[in-house]
Amino acid sequence: MRTPFIAGNWKMNLTLKESVALVEELKDLVSGVTGVEIAVCPPAVNLTRVQEVLKDTSIKVGAQNMHWEDSGAFTGELSPVMLRDIDVDYIIIGHSERRQYFNETDQIVNRKVQAAHTHGLKPIICVGESLDEREEGKTRQVVKAQVKSALAGLTKDQVADSVIAYEPIWAIGTGKSATAEEANDVIKFIRETVNQDFDGAGDAMRIQYGGSVKPHNIEDFIKQSDIDGALVGGASLKAESFAEIVKKSV
Ligand code: PEP
Repeated sequence: MRTPFIAGNWKMNLTLKESVALVEELKDLVSGVTGVEIAVCPPAVNLTRVQEVLKDTSIKVGAQNMHWEDSGAFTGELSPVMLRDIDVDYIIIGHSERRQYFNETDQIVNRKVQAAHTHGLKPIICVGESLDEREEGKTRQVVKAQVKSALAGLTKDQVADSVIAYEPIWAIGTGKSATAEEANDVIKFIRETVNQDFDGAGDAMRIQYGGSVKPHNIEDFIKQSDIDGALVGGASLKAESFAEIVKKSV
C-alpha cells in the first residue's frame, strides 16, 4: 500500500515573509488530515525558517536543487550534506526547468540521485517528454531512458525509497494537463520498467503526476491505479489551493 504524496514546488517564488505566511496558513488548513504525505519545497534561502514553522507538524520540507559533491569550490551551490544538516527530507532532482535552463543531463541527475541517497535525502526525480517528443510518439522511449539513467547504480531499497514525478514538459505551468488516463498509462509503464530493473522495487516506489494539477482536477489523477500523488507548481503558491489538493488526495 503506497501512501499518496503531495509536494509543492514553489520554484523561485515567495519572499521569506510570504513563505512563512503560507506555511502558517497551510499547517492550520491541513491539521488533522491523515493518509497523505505532504511536503513543501521553498527556495533554499527560506528553508530553515519554513522548517521552524512546521517543526511540530507532519509536513515535510524539500529543496529544489543541490550539487552532488559534499563540499568544495562550486560557487553558488548547495551540498547534500548541508541540506541534511538542516534536516531537509526531500530533494527535487532533474526538474525540466533545470534540464532546460541549467543544462542538467541524465548523467548529472544520476549523480545527484546517488548523492541524495548517500546522505539520507529522498529524491523526487522528475522525468517527462517535450511536446515534440510526444507528437513523434516517443514518450515511452524518452521517459524510459530518463528513468533508467536516473536510477543507475542504486540498490533496490534506495529505488523503493525514491519518488518519481512524471511531468510532461508541455503540461508544466501551461494550464494544459495530460488526461488522467494518459498520465496513468505512462506511470504504469515507468513502474513496470523499474520493477524489471530492480526486482519489484517499482511496486513500492511512489510515482507522482505533475503538470497543471489544480484543486479541480486532482481527484481525476488520484483515483487512477498507479498515480500516487502530485508534484504541484502554481497551485502550491496559495495555502488554500494546495490544502484543497492535499485533502482531495486522501
Ligand atoms: C512543476 O513545476 O513541477 C509543476 C508541475 O508546475 P505546475 O503545477 O505549475 O504545472
